[in-house]
Amino acid sequence: MKITFLGSGGCIEQAGSKYVATMVECGDAIYLVDGGCAIADELLRANKEYKNVRALFITHYHGDHTAGVFPFIDLINWAYTDCSLSLVSPTEEYIEALKDMIMASLSYGGKVDSERLKFIVAKVGRIFEDENVLVDYFPTKHFKNGDTPSYAMLITEKATGKKVLFSGDLSYGLSGNDIPKDALLESDVFVCELYHFIAGELLPHLEGFNGILCINHLFERDKFKKDILDAFSGHSFGVLAPNNNDIIEI
Ligand SMILES: [Zn+2]
Ligand SMILES: [Zn+2]
Repeated sequence: MKITFLGSGGCIEQAGSKYVATMVECGDAIYLVDGGCAIADELLRANKEYKNVRALFITHYHGDHTAGVFPFIDLINWAYTDCSLSLVSPTEEYIEALKDMIMASLSYGGKVDSERLKFIVAKVGRIFEDENVLVDYFPTKHFKNGDTPSYAMLITEKATGKKVLFSGDLSYGLSGNDIPKDALLESDVFVCELYHFIAGELLPHLEGFNGILCINHLFERDKFKKDILDAFSGHSFGVLAPNNNDIIEI
């Protein structure tokens, strides 16, 4: 399994940062987790073909996780008619808004090709499976109002059994205790945001984790990277703070 951090920036853009999106590859098959940066562009820059994208998983609908979704899906809809993929959305409203955006950008008489674009409303539990991966969603408490859905997600590669857990965005200060602990303990890699809490608030939740912690979605990344790595060193797990377009293989 290959993991590419297409965008690893925080919630507010800065010069040189890119909104959050991650590409997971199992052989030729591509799975995208969030689409904050310009994923249509990023895929081509990485010499990937759109037809190999099997699914795009959205953890929650905030713009820093979704800004690049519409241009990509719109392109697949009207131009790349040999492509089909699943889009897992945290809400029905987001799917309808995306379809409305596509319709508004098409000539009259155009349509959203829902046979090639399979829109799936997220729910807790197994949300996707193909010959390469299993994908499970877990509820998080990112939204302050408490009732807008947001998710962490676990991707398991069938061939190797390797597992990568994505935190999505979590509760402020981790006050919601919303890291799925069982999934974390069986994961080889934990891609964790570090925008809504600090290292000292995350550390107690990592007890027993023996994989690699990949910190992304980091505020002023270049300024804080060394401090962050220092804060997490000397524990049972490895730690990385990937740059945009960094790749790790497990
Ligand atoms: Zn975010
Ligand atoms: Zn968010």
